[in-house]
Amino acid sequence: MRLDLVAGAAAAAWFGPAAAPVARPVAAAFRIPRKLPAGSGVALTFDDGPHAHGTPAVLEALDAWHAVATFFLVGEQVERHRALAAEIVAAGHTIGVHGYRHTLLLRRCPGAVRDDLRRARDVIGSVTGTEPWLYRPPYGVFSGPALLDIRRLGWRPLLWSRWGRDWQAGATPEGIAARVTRGLGDGDVVLLHDADHYSSPDSWRRTVAALSIVLAEAAAAGLPLTAPSQST
Ligand SMILES: [Zn+2]
Repeated sequence: MRLDLVAGAAAAAWFGPAAAPVARPVAAAFRIPRKLPAGSGVALTFDDGPHAHGTPAVLEALDAWHAVATFFLVGEQVERHRALAAEIVAAGHTIGVHGYRHTLLLRRCPGAVRDDLRRARDVIGSVTGTEPWLYRPPYGVFSGPALLDIRRLGWRPLLWSRWGRDWQAGATPEGIAARVTRGLGDGDVVLLHDADHYSSPDSWRRTVAALSIVLAEAAAAGLPLTAPSQST
């Protein structure tokens, strides 16, 4: 019985925050934000890059609307596309860490996660000339030890409140845009992907096509686009 309790407590400590992307109460309990504070506007976020084609196309679409966004970069992709990572920052966008490798944290021991996070920090920091402070795990799934470690690093976790499901093979630009914009409001954080490294091939093309619709609709609705602020 006692062993069961110990095992149960260990499992809770390990898996506790894992459901945060799909369960608001879990996100709240572990203080993992899904939205920005009221009055912030809408934050578009792009995971999994940089990507040789997807990232420039997303940057071009954002530039056409003078829009800012946040890019959660993967360390191993930053090493392959250094100039693109630097270009994101030069264009005025915000950088977040999405790990060095795009691996589910629940499958990795705390030591491996610790090494991955620091390797990601070092690569992303040196290539972009920024000090990373924002973090989103692969698939949005935290483990308990990883969440503790990112707080130890002084990073802030950020999930999302809306997604386009743009990684799915059957996604269409219209469908992605509709999922993002239906009910879109102040404080929403939108999950999209500028890369297909870990999703269906060429998914970034559908994302880019959807992005034009999203940007036009956000502008028509008078919703300002923003990025998370380190000071709030
Ligand atoms: Zn990802």
